[in-house]
Amino acid sequence: MSILHILAENLRQGVVTLRYPQRVQPPPNYRSLVQLQKEQCVGCACCAYVCVSGAIQVREKREEYVWAYDPAKCTFCGRCIEACPTQALQMQTERPPIYHQPGALAVSYSMTYPPCQSCGKPFRVANELLRQRAYVEVSQQVENLLHLCPSCRQKEGFKQILAARQAKEVER
Ligand code: SF4
Ligand code: SF4
Repeated sequence: MSILHILAENLRQGVVTLRYPQRVQPPPNYRSLVQLQKEQCVGCACCAYVCVSGAIQVREKREEYVWAYDPAKCTFCGRCIEACPTQALQMQTERPPIYHQPGALAVSYSMTYPPCQSCGKPFRVANELLRQRAYVEVSQQVENLLHLCPSCRQKEGFKQILAARQAKEVER
């Protein structure tokens, strides 16, 4: 195509550049900001582990953990979405807002660990989705154990084994 044809075509099309704040519509499956569904997050930090750009940080404290995300560092690769075992992360499909300062869109959420039903110590609990994945059908016995912290769970499991053994000995 000659330069004259290109010029004629451009003139025919007219102005195609959008004036700010107008923006081009994103294509289907556009990957934008990462969003956290707080109620589904268990604080496992898998998302932070796979995020090579350090856009997601999970900091553990004694009674809570902090999940933080800075879109200014995000490459929108989607690896955190794939890695999250509880489907707590999603990507928005709208273009992110325009910002001028790094960190302007950063978010951080503090989430409290639930207390152990025996000793009251806060601990990281498996949510509904993880329980179903691990056990398919969650019995009442397992359900009760899952509300205990690892050390109380171990003690309770040991008690149950002892009780079962004693019951067998009585039968004999
Ligand atoms: S999309 Fe990629 S870069 Fe962005 S937070 Fe997730 S893993 Fe990190
Ligand atoms: S991988 Fe999912 S569940 Fe684990 S900390 Fe990240 S968002 Fe929460």
